Amino acid sequence: MEFLPISWRLQGKSALLVGGGEVALRKGRLLHRSGAKVSVVAPDVCADLRDIAVQSQGVIHERAFESSDLTGQTLVICATDDPAVNAAVAQQAQARGLPVNVVDNPSLGDFIFPAIVDRSPVLISISSSGASPVLARKLRSQLESMLPARWGRLADLMARFRQPLKDKLNNVGARRLFWEQALEGPLVEKVMAGKDSEAEVMLAEAIEAADASRLSRGEVYLVGAGPGDPDLLTFRALRLLQKADVVLYDRLVGKGIVDLARRDAELVYVGKARDKHALPQDNINELLVHYAKQGKKVCRLKGGDPFIFGRGGEEIDLIVAEGIDFQVVPGITAASGCAAYAGIPLTHRDHAQSVRFVTGHRKDGTVDLDWPHLVSETETVVFYMGLVGLRQICSKLMEHGRAGDTPIGLVSRGTTNLQEVITGTLDSLPDQIEGREIHAPTLIIVGSVVSLHSQFEWFGKGN
Ligand code: SAH
Repeated sequence: MEFLPISWRLQGKSALLVGGGEVALRKGRLLHRSGAKVSVVAPDVCADLRDIAVQSQGVIHERAFESSDLTGQTLVICATDDPAVNAAVAQQAQARGLPVNVVDNPSLGDFIFPAIVDRSPVLISISSSGASPVLARKLRSQLESMLPARWGRLADLMARFRQPLKDKLNNVGARRLFWEQALEGPLVEKVMAGKDSEAEVMLAEAIEAADASRLSRGEVYLVGAGPGDPDLLTFRALRLLQKADVVLYDRLVGKGIVDLARRDAELVYVGKARDKHALPQDNINELLVHYAKQGKKVCRLKGGDPFIFGRGGEEIDLIVAEGIDFQVVPGITAASGCAAYAGIPLTHRDHAQSVRFVTGHRKDGTVDLDWPHLVSETETVVFYMGLVGLRQICSKLMEHGRAGDTPIGLVSRGTTNLQEVITGTLDSLPDQIEGREIHAPTLIIVGSVVSLHSQFEWFGKGN
């Protein structure tokens, strides 16, 4: 992060604009809107900027900049049409410890102006850290069209009811939940439809009826986070993730997904690597119960789908036994995600009529599977956790009758921008990847559908 976005109270503070033209005027208008006293120094100050200075009780100096102009200022904006003057003013201001914005050269200054969506008191600021103001503006216009103008009214209404709600519920978590539920209900529509007084009555009644014990009860969300790409989260997963006070996640959950949690949520890593158990399963189960019993909303994020090789069942055992409320949110399992992003349809009328998900996790050094049932030519078999046992998987399948030239595909870090797909045949793939570094997690797909990969490959091909 090159710039820290903060919201700065400038009401009544003095701001100096060096420059008197169009560019300075745009900044002057913004400063004026924020309540600053706008002073201007420039040999020529345009009429609109003069008005702003007068209205905001700033000072106008129609002459070249002098260092004494900096006295008493809170911030300085260099907006002349002469880059050398801008740079020189910036240097003097910085020498006095004043924050500076240099309009034509942001890298010389201390702060930049983001694009703003103004739904006061709600403000959204968008910045590309100077990389592409056009992109920031595009995003801004998209947000403008998404957010009804009445959003500000909604925020004002909520502000008025903050204290009454505080008087009713003294638990901060319960209050947050109350607001979240209120925002999911008809209140928002009422405000958007301009029915402010009805909305007010509705809110007052809801506060009156708020039930502290129900709102401060803990709950566990067992959430499937999908195979890696954050775009593959479900809406429900996102909503619960943003509701949670505590988020427990493991190695398979991408950072881009954990970043979607609330800023103030507690993030707990409970990751396990094969053979390296960071936290024994029992401890995870106990942690879930521990947090829920404190009245927290706990989101257990699992890679893929929680009920497919995800020990989801084991994790809710104790939760059920303890009588804790819970929800399970399905996720896109690795087989679906990797197959789609690798362009390998898991079923296809010309190739496979069924698909089977199996775990290739080794038990006592062997891959312990029901081999005779895995060799149908018209079935696709997907092996989770199979990389270490790959050679054994291939030879066992051939031993039990699957042809040596059966296509097999290996998808490493599927759906992420580091995805790699390697294809071969049962009798060639183990030698083909011998000595090659393959990054976990890896999924293995066996069956003639894999031959479609070369035709259907799309992801990471410049789109
Ligand atoms: N519950 C998860 C599976 C957990 S088992 C799901 O539904 O997807 C972990 C195994 O899933 C890994 O060893 C690997 O075989 C597979 N896997 C998970 N994410 C993957 C990814 N992005 N790319 C390839 N394989 C993945």
